[in-house]
Amino acid sequence: MTQSTYDSVVVGAGPVGIACAIELKRIGHRVLVVEKGGLVQSLIGYPTNMEFFSTPELLEIGGYPFATRNYKPRREEAIDYYRRVAFREELPLALQEAVQDLQGTKNAFSVVTDKRTVSCRHVVLAVGFFDVPNRLNVPGGEREKVVHYYKEPYAYTGRDVLVVGAKNSAAKAALDCLRNGARVSMVVRGSDIGESVKYWIRPDLKNRIEEGAIHAWFESEVECIEPDSVTIRTPEGRRDIPNHVVLAMTGYRPDFELLECLGVTFMDDAARTPIYNVETMETERSGLFLAGTVCGGLNTSRWFIENGRFHAQAIARFLSGHSSAESI
Ligand SMILES: Cc1cc2nc3c(=O)[nH]c(=O)nc-3n(C[C@H](O)[C@H](O)[C@H](O)COP(=O)(O)OP(=O)(O)OC[C@H]3O[C@@H](n4cnc5c(N)ncnc54)[C@H](O)[C@@H]3O)c2cc1C
Repeated sequence: MTQSTYDSVVVGAGPVGIACAIELKRIGHRVLVVEKGGLVQSLIGYPTNMEFFSTPELLEIGGYPFATRNYKPRREEAIDYYRRVAFREELPLALQEAVQDLQGTKNAFSVVTDKRTVSCRHVVLAVGFFDVPNRLNVPGGEREKVVHYYKEPYAYTGRDVLVVGAKNSAAKAALDCLRNGARVSMVVRGSDIGESVKYWIRPDLKNRIEEGAIHAWFESEVECIEPDSVTIRTPEGRRDIPNHVVLAMTGYRPDFELLECLGVTFMDDAARTPIYNVETMETERSGLFLAGTVCGGLNTSRWFIENGRFHAQAIARFLSGHSSAESI
């Protein structure tokens, strides 16, 4: 059954989706934000005590100041900030409602959710990439003890924890677990901790490895996960190590199946970059726009809040008739 008609439906109530809804509202659009989880669901899923890398002014949307107690905001401060902004703007939010399909054409779209069908003229996809973890495709990779969303270390005290990966999330999780009494090992594909790990975290982790507090297996891969052990392939041969928990900090990927279903097309590159006009953010499906981290495809560090939030203004500028169109 078709219900109300909107000028724009924004899919995803992450920081960038909220920014888009604000800017579209400001050009006079009747907007609906549809979010399959809670408000800023991805931030809810971050580690409990997570601190942002960015200073607060770089995470601001809608021109609202983000005042924090410390130099860098913490997860709960950011959740609080984005909620206050969304409520202050009185954004219509359809939470716990997943978009599944998009029918029709520009100016006459039907957005199909798991609850209803919504009519609108334009659609903005700000769906991020945090829902689909890169799984360990090894025997035992689906066991319950394999964790893709690290929250906090307390349950791992006194236990054997294997951290897979060597980027920021892996580095932070390894240090966090070590400092809360876990026995930590790391399996790293490359020969060193990732160069992209923040400058204040990398030396800390490297020193812990050098002093032997964390055992890192470099140029190694997980081969098999058993209930009480993990088999690792190392340059010196196979190793079986005792294990209770595997923190698979192997990153995430956009939901390509959903994007394809909604009519997004992709470049023929290694990152499967979605095709969109860099000035207007419009995809090859007229009236369908992309915003935020989803724009990078598998290159998930290309866009983040700091730079992705500006997609909102680009879309609003175009839809209010002030932009020329040029495709990538
Ligand atoms: C540990 C960590 C630290 C970070 N620190 C920083 C930092 O310091 N600075 C910075 O700029 N960035 C940082 N980032 C990255 C930043 O959090 C992301 O860039 C940001 O969340 C992206 O916002 P977004 O709105 O594009 O996507 P998301 O926040 O991922 O929002 C997408 C939303 O879409 C919803 N959704 C998905 N599919 C559907 C569907 N079918 N129907 C309805 N809703 C759907 C999801 O539930 C989600 O709420 C960090 C990320 C992590 C993991």
